[in-house]
Amino acid sequence: MSLYNVTEMLARMVFDQALAGHGKLACECPRCRDDILAYALNRLPSRYVTSDLGQAYVKAQYLDSQMQLDLLRELTIAALAVGANPHHEIPRETRTEALPEACRTGEAGGS
Ligand SMILES: [Zn+2]
Repeated sequence: MSLYNVTEMLARMVFDQALAGHGKLACECPRCRDDILAYALNRLPSRYVTSDLGQAYVKAQYLDSQMQLDLLRELTIAALAVGANPHHEIPRETRTEALPEACRTGEAGGS
């Protein structure tokens, strides 16, 4: 059985499109990304769907501009909170240019 949290999928999409790689984050490492997503998702309602209906539902929700605004607002709040208090040291001179050693957790992605 496949269950998807639509809120999580949308949050990742908004994060990638609006925040990541735009110089808006104190740190772009996977650890901080996950911390930001976790922070935001804990403040947003979860919406679970099963696999087949999921994709269509996600697209419909994503086209809802209010939904995008809500996600972006929560992600921005989360990014500020995590950026101000990251779970690792951030060398000031290499802030976003290089990943801090503490971030290289070898995390494997995939679905
Ligand atoms: Zn980081």
